Amino acid sequence: MPELPEVETIRRHLEAVLPGRRIDAVIHLDERMVKRSLLDAAAIRSRLTGARVTRVTRRGKFLGLYLSSGGILLLHLGMSGRLVIELESALVKPHTHFIVRMGGDDLRLTDPRRFGRIAWVSSLDLDLGIDPLSRRFTPASLAQLLEGRSIAVKSALLNQSLIAGLGNIYADEALFWSGIHPLRPAGTLGADEMDRLCRAIRKVLRRSLRNRGTSFSDYVDALGHPGENQHHLDVYGREGQPCRRCRSLIVRLVVGGRSSHYCPQCQVLRRTQGEPKFEIEGENYAEV
Ligand SMILES: [Zn+2]
Repeated sequence: MPELPEVETIRRHLEAVLPGRRIDAVIHLDERMVKRSLLDAAAIRSRLTGARVTRVTRRGKFLGLYLSSGGILLLHLGMSGRLVIELESALVKPHTHFIVRMGGDDLRLTDPRRFGRIAWVSSLDLDLGIDPLSRRFTPASLAQLLEGRSIAVKSALLNQSLIAGLGNIYADEALFWSGIHPLRPAGTLGADEMDRLCRAIRKVLRRSLRNRGTSFSDYVDALGHPGENQHHLDVYGREGQPCRRCRSLIVRLVVGGRSSHYCPQCQVLRRTQGEPKFEIEGENYAEV
């Protein structure tokens, strides 16, 4: 599923090519993709037609297209969404739910699993936490977010109202790089661990951005090309393979329906560190 680096990769491309272009028509807009929106599908269609995109921003895993007609088109790619710019003459793929036409090019959203979302909003002031690539994301702010929490640190990292944009892949990678077990109760991390975790989160996100995101199955960038970061992951998706640091075999643990990948040697959970609550917060895609 697209996480921060994948959505940001798409945003950078859209920001480079969309602003200033006039929307000639909305060729197709599947009403079922319009969720928790100020306007319905018909009204969105009419507000888009003839407008220009002024800028493209991101908040967590959400994209916001600002329009000259006022208002913001919010797009979320859910689990399997793709947002690609194609020639209008290109074959329309199955599960295409949204087509915006601009002078011979189409912006097309496809989403086989339909967990994505299209909405008209008045601001991107969504109920989301700190962006981990922003300056506000520091060891001190991370400590404040996790303070007193007995849930597993992995669950806390996935909670979008605490940290916006992290998902399963980068949470696992960051915990590996900071040497922290995914089930460690979030509130028990010390200052050194908080510092390592903060750096690790930034490191794994930036590395993925350089590699244009991680593609396992669905994700492609705005040109339809897969990313390269799947070749640079250290634990995620590497169950049973040797740890690149210590050669122990990577373990996969299922917690609350979500899998966690970690190295049992590099990420030790000591009994004295307490028992976490097995809870996964903030990743309920049915409600996106
Ligand atoms: Zn290891």
